[in-house]
Amino acid sequence: MTVPTTTPFPGGTILGYPRIGRRRELKRAVEAYWAGRTDAVDLEVAAGTLRRETVQRLVALGLDPEDGSVPGSFSYYDQVLDVVALLGAVPARFRDLLDDEDGSLDLDGYFTVARGRGEDAPLEMTKWFDTNYHYLVPEISETTPISFADHRVVREYAEAKEAGVTTRPVLVGPVTFLALSKAADDAGDGFHPLDRLDDVVAAYAELLRALAAVGVPWVQLDEPVLVTDSVGVDPERVDAAITRAYRELATGLAPASADDALDTVPERPRLLVAAPFGGLAAPGADGRPARDGLALLAGTDVEAVAIDLFEGGVPAGTGPDGTVPGLASKTLVAGVVDGHNVWRTDLAARLGTLEALRGLGARSLAVGTSTSLLHVPHDVDDETWTGPAADRAGRTPALRRWLAFADQKVGEVTTLARALTGGPDAVRAELDEASAALADRAAATGVVVPAVRERIAALSATDFARGDHAGRVAAQRESLDLPPLPTTTIGSFPQTAEIRRTRSAWAKGELADDAYRAAMRDEIARVIALQEDIGLDVLVHGEPERNDMVQYFAELLDGFATTDLGWVQSYGSRCVRPPILWGDVTRPAPMTVEWTRYAQSLTARPVKGMLTGPVTILAWSFVRDDQPLGDTARQVALALRDEVTDLEAAGTAVVQVDEPALRELLPLRRADQPAYLDWSVGAFRLATAGAASSTQVHTHLCYSEFGEIIDAIDGLDADVTSIEAARSRMEVVPELHEAGYTRGVGPGVYDIHSPRVPSTAEVTELLGLATSAIDPGLVWVNPDCGLKTRGYAEVEPSLRHLVEAARTVRAGL
Ligand code: GLN
Ligand code: ZN
Repeated sequence: MTVPTTTPFPGGTILGYPRIGRRRELKRAVEAYWAGRTDAVDLEVAAGTLRRETVQRLVALGLDPEDGSVPGSFSYYDQVLDVVALLGAVPARFRDLLDDEDGSLDLDGYFTVARGRGEDAPLEMTKWFDTNYHYLVPEISETTPISFADHRVVREYAEAKEAGVTTRPVLVGPVTFLALSKAADDAGDGFHPLDRLDDVVAAYAELLRALAAVGVPWVQLDEPVLVTDSVGVDPERVDAAITRAYRELATGLAPASADDALDTVPERPRLLVAAPFGGLAAPGADGRPARDGLALLAGTDVEAVAIDLFEGGVPAGTGPDGTVPGLASKTLVAGVVDGHNVWRTDLAARLGTLEALRGLGARSLAVGTSTSLLHVPHDVDDETWTGPAADRAGRTPALRRWLAFADQKVGEVTTLARALTGGPDAVRAELDEASAALADRAAATGVVVPAVRERIAALSATDFARGDHAGRVAAQRESLDLPPLPTTTIGSFPQTAEIRRTRSAWAKGELADDAYRAAMRDEIARVIALQEDIGLDVLVHGEPERNDMVQYFAELLDGFATTDLGWVQSYGSRCVRPPILWGDVTRPAPMTVEWTRYAQSLTARPVKGMLTGPVTILAWSFVRDDQPLGDTARQVALALRDEVTDLEAAGTAVVQVDEPALRELLPLRRADQPAYLDWSVGAFRLATAGAASSTQVHTHLCYSEFGEIIDAIDGLDADVTSIEAARSRMEVVPELHEAGYTRGVGPGVYDIHSPRVPSTAEVTELLGLATSAIDPGLVWVNPDCGLKTRGYAEVEPSLRHLVEAARTVRAGL
């Protein structure tokens, strides 16, 4: 039975908050535990402290401590793994980790599923919607145990309550959980994890009952699967699952209600369903929504719906007077503060958006973030932005004023919430300051650089095209004179502790430029000598000078800034500090030439120049929001194009432009993909098309699942493409052959994600698979990816086996 709710949603909230800690406390605590330096109790104490500090901080920033405004969004590792643990839904190889009595995983078991043990591979990792966060992919079959096994959510609610804060537990919703799962190895033909929807929903119902019993007022269930049509499940099936799941959870259980006249015992907290990462209405051919997720959610009995207005835009109502049928009984949580970028919000404009939303006829309107704040750093005020590295990092003094990290965004939410109830005058000073900051940003030196704009405007089709492919093949055969099945690596060599120490001492100003340069040169000389000794054909300098393949370039290009403490969780305990791209991009000086030239001076074999491509640089940065991404990409591409020219002038005959993120940025909705592929492929071509025919352009893409973008990869017009293939045993090579691929291809024969050393026989076999599936004249021999995370003890024998195997197969051609 349904009881009408009368308690409105809080006026302002956020959909989630970073959980790694302002100083990465959780990372440290978890890694100390993994290393055996602390025990489980220490870890739980550290995590508990962090959770308490977090909720109290959110209250101090203005969220209400009593009404469920404060999200309970902690995770030890990953929010999808948390649901696996909640349900005890581990794959067969980890079943022994489940508690005999209640089917739950303890902390060790949880981390084991995340990280693997011995021969038992961990759950696979993949990207979370259009962010750089990676979640663990659950494996589900007909027989996977599914129950309400783990009570951590209930415990954490009680813990916060004890600290004086009533939180709103946040969980990945049942439909998104299953839609993102894959069929486990033991699943029957045709099985899809969504076949287990009823079991999962029943477990969620148990959880909701348990939460209601301890007085939880609100629970948030995230269903971002509603904004995408490219997760491999029919959108119709997803929509039907949503209807079914929320009929059970929302309609089937009596909700908590503060002034519930009927005096029933609530069977569940009130429900907020959130749909971050995109608009809920996908436009159909005639402009009307082809699939209307908002109408779908409005048709359920949940009490509140959160929508992403940042990427979505104001939805159109389909009911009378433009209202959304069903919304009249619900709170609409308007995601008007961008959860996954770092720019200060235009509060006045967003207030206008909120006003426009009133027309949808929701029972009440609340202010929210478009997504969880997991994807932005903690606090702009933590940045000191001083020290010798500051200038090189492109920090303009004004930058701070233009930015809003998580804590500033909480402030924006509460400001807008006050404006919603008290009118704009209640927050006049804040609105004015935000507008002034925005105006300052728009007018600041470097944001618009006329010379950059003019150069872009003058581009023509020829700037995007190289000479014909056959001519290039001939010219390169002459310039490079390589054997068949040429051997090479992807770029980086192991980054030893000493290299890291040297780099960080230099960055802190403790090591002079000369000494730093000498140390890097020594390392390059060592790596070149080693490669010659191993017998590789195309060498690399080893990238010792690069802290990160994007940050390195961001530090050298104008228009980018880097942060000191702007850490964002990438997966598990791993964090990254994405650079901030704030202005027009220019290259004050060559970025890689000195190192590559030095490496080439030491050997007669060709040394590859190594660059990160424009799309990857954008994908792993916070990008400006004041112009289309494609425009920004072209600016970065031009800077790289100049670098290619300088590399050629310094005697480089092979240039590799890495684009591992090309597929990552692929839009969530199919309808948006062609436009993306157009500008991203165009940017790569702009970066590389200045190269002479005799210069061999390589690209590296990391992953191998690119069936859907194979045409785009061909469109990059690179001469050689290296991809990951070892784990899938060259699966991609026959696909390429079928697609009529005629370019050089380096399917990885050495899985660098594992410390294993592949034997010569193993590599020979993989190469046999490759050369029998595609013209051997196209095949290159290389590892799956860069070697920077590995040690020399594994890398050296692996590369020797790789070269031996190439020689064996070559002899048999
Ligand atoms: N050139 C880079 C390296 O070798 C490529 C890394 C990547 O693809 N992620 O490390
Ligand atoms: Zn790679």
